[in-house]
Amino acid sequence: MIDAQTAIYGVIGNPVTHSLSPMLHNAAFRRIGLNAVYLAFEVRNLKEAIYGIKALGIRGVSVILPFKTQVIPLLDEVDGVAKKINAVNTIQNRDGRLIGYNTDWWAAMEALEEKVDLKGKRVLLLGAGGAARAIGFGLKERGAQGIISNRSMKRGMELAQDLGFDYKPLASLEGVEFEVVINATSVGMWPNENESPLPKAFLRERVVVMDIVYHPLKTRFLRDAEDRGCLTIDGIEMLARQAVGQLEIWTGQRLSIHPIKEDLRKEWLKKE
Ligand code: NAP
Repeated sequence: MIDAQTAIYGVIGNPVTHSLSPMLHNAAFRRIGLNAVYLAFEVRNLKEAIYGIKALGIRGVSVILPFKTQVIPLLDEVDGVAKKINAVNTIQNRDGRLIGYNTDWWAAMEALEEKVDLKGKRVLLLGAGGAARAIGFGLKERGAQGIISNRSMKRGMELAQDLGFDYKPLASLEGVEFEVVINATSVGMWPNENESPLPKAFLRERVVVMDIVYHPLKTRFLRDAEDRGCLTIDGIEMLARQAVGQLEIWTGQRLSIHPIKEDLRKEWLKKE
């Protein structure tokens, strides 16, 4: 029941109407019996939204595109890893001080490591935005050999340089060898569901293909990968894990991943 004690959490981003986070976090709050509610806030002015979080005593927020990097200078404190990545996906309001964290990077690593040991593997990372930065940091941590490719060459080269990885322009990927490929761009995301970040012909059998886009769940990229005999990892694998990390920061409780993934998959079945 919502009452005067109900703690408010939410997601800030633009757009947010596609977000599965309200369903996911509200189900988790019910499961742990917390008097809390999680809402979606479509933000037009980030600075004012941050003041609002403090002014209204909102306990914590998830941060999604396009604010993960822009939000950093507006916070009171940023955890060391989030600072290194230069992207925050989680804010905790600790007695009026806003602290930023990043739970994306290890969520992506855990999802990948269910299928592949990353050490020494050649990994093609598509994208150089907030999520790609987090994943790139994780790949570096795990000792993978990264190759970054991105639409904007400047942004892609900067990320490659920060991580000590190679950079290849999107137009020059033909013939590049990789054992793992990750789509960390928004290509293929609703409403452009027929787009894929990489031509199907570039995918070889048994390559591990991860798409972090989760709307739709079965992207064109993943459908192409299945056709080519690749091992696939969909966006829910990372989404569920980054949420488990957020819930732990906010509540101190570490939830099991399985019911969260089940909730998300059920929600998708309803949509499809
Ligand atoms: P972001 O910071 O805005 O970065 C977007 C990235 O996509 C950039 O690399 C951008 O390239 C590229 N891009 C966008 N449109 C493109 C196009 N038409 N052609 C080629 N490249 C294009 O966003 P983000 O936060 O990193 O999120 C990226 C995607 O990951 C989103 O779909 C988001 O929903 C998803 N995501 C999923 C999870 C999960 O848990 N599953 C977590 C985080 C994010 P430029 O640099 O050239 O603009």
